[in-house]
This record gives sequence, C-alpha cells and structure tokens, in this order.
Amino acid sequence: MVDYHLHTPRCCHAEGTPEEYLAEAERKGLREIGFADHFPLGLLDYIPRAQVTMNSDELEGYIGQIEALKGYSAQVDIKTGIEVDYLPGTEDKLADLLKDYRFDYVIGSIHFMEDWDFTHPVYADSYRERDLNKLYQTYFKLVWDLCRSGLFDIIGHIDVIKKFGYRPVSDLEPYWTETARVLKETDTCLELNTAGRDAPVNEFYPHKRLLEKCFQRGVPVTMGSDAHGPVQVGRYFKEAAELLKTTGYKELAVFEKRVKRSVSF
Ligand code: ZN
Ligand code: FE
Ligand code: FE
Ligand code: ZN
Repeated sequence: MVDYHLHTPRCCHAEGTPEEYLAEAERKGLREIGFADHFPLGLLDYIPRAQVTMNSDELEGYIGQIEALKGYSAQVDIKTGIEVDYLPGTEDKLADLLKDYRFDYVIGSIHFMEDWDFTHPVYADSYRERDLNKLYQTYFKLVWDLCRSGLFDIIGHIDVIKKFGYRPVSDLEPYWTETARVLKETDTCLELNTAGRDAPVNEFYPHKRLLEKCFQRGVPVTMGSDAHGPVQVGRYFKEAAELLKTTGYKELAVFEKRVKRSVSF
C-alpha cells in the first residue's frame, strides 16, 4: 500500500521527524510513502489567521530533507510531494512557483473559503450560521475549479467540507456525478484519505458513493492518511484497501517527477 499524505512539523500543527514516519511505514509494511506538507501560503501572498503551513523560507529545506531520505529504506520507496491550497486567483502565480521545484506529485486541497479555514476546529462553530446547501454548492464549485486549473496531480480529501458532520438536506448525488466527471475530464487523481475516520464525521474522504462513481468513470486513486504524527501513518489502511477492492479498484496511482503510473495492491 501507498501513503501519499504525510506532514512534517514545519506546518506548525504536526509532530515527529520524517525518520519516525518512515519507521512507522516500515512497521506497517507500506511499500511507498510520500511527504506532502503544507505549501507556504506566504508565497501565494495569503496570510491566514492561524499559521497552518511552513514559512516561505522553509520550502527548500523541506524538499532537501525528504530528498535526503530517499534510498534510506530498503523496504519503502519515498516520494517528495506537497499539499497546496487551492485559492482562486492564485493560479498563475502558483504555476510559476511550481516550475521551480521538482516535486514527485502535487496535491491540491481546499481548506479556505473566503477567509474562513473551514477545516480548522477552532472555526468550526461558523458552520451553524451558514446555509449548508449553499455552502456545499460553493465548495463543490471550488473542487471543480481546482481540477480545471490543471495545476494538481491529486485532489486531497475531496469532500472535507463534511469534516465536522454538517450536511445539507439536499441530495448530494448530482455533486458526486459531476465531480467524478470533472476528475476524469481533467485527469485528476482521487485520494482515498483516511483521516476523516478520526474527525467528527467519522468517515473516509470521499463518500462511498463518490468513490463508486469515480471507479465507474475510470478515475485513478491513491491513498493518504494525512498523518500529522508518526502513529497516524497508514491509519485504517486495511479497511481502506478493502473498500477500494469491493468498489472494484485493483490498482493505485503512484507518481515520480509528476508522471503517473499504476501499481497493483
Ligand atoms: Zn495539516
Ligand atoms: Fe489538508
Ligand atoms: Fe494534509
Ligand atoms: Zn490534508
């Protein structure tokens, strides 16, 4: 199995050294891991209320540290990824920045709507004041725009808007249908992100129904624990692999220098 979503303490809300994450991956028998720490928001001229990414001057050091870890393990392949916030309007700047770095893959994630970090527990009360139907509509438009930007190899925790258990009364089926279509059309890889099992929603991202639609469309999938500490590496991966298999998936997408290929699992 492959865990492509590991953080480092540089983002200020994770703990443990990359070596400790690697040791846990070896213990759990993973064949491949990838670090995907939070890309510095400062480089996109965005300063959130709480610091949730590495500083701009830490990016080089981060890449160097992960590159140095490659070949360190006989058992586990290591990749250098990054998790970048999709912020509408920053596409050109980001395209320029990404050209300067040789990542193995780039995960695009949505954590912000306007100024609201809706994935941050401290600001979760704000869901109560929102029209959830409209909120989901806005969120999924961002998901489609993220894919259409063509900047990202993988979309991270695709339905993270459900994280705190707030759901609209409207039927989400049309969102799942359109999302699977857009992923296929834009050749964006889906991430089965297991972190949601430890969030109030207590579900993987994405919803089972979206995963099914993605499989039917032929959308490639990868796995990520979104570990912010060594013990979280590969969390719930047995359950996740079984879910993928019952859905029909026989292969996982892996990346090297932003070129995708498939491996059986
Ligand atoms: Zn994080
Ligand atoms: Fe994230
Ligand atoms: Fe993450
Ligand atoms: Zn994440």
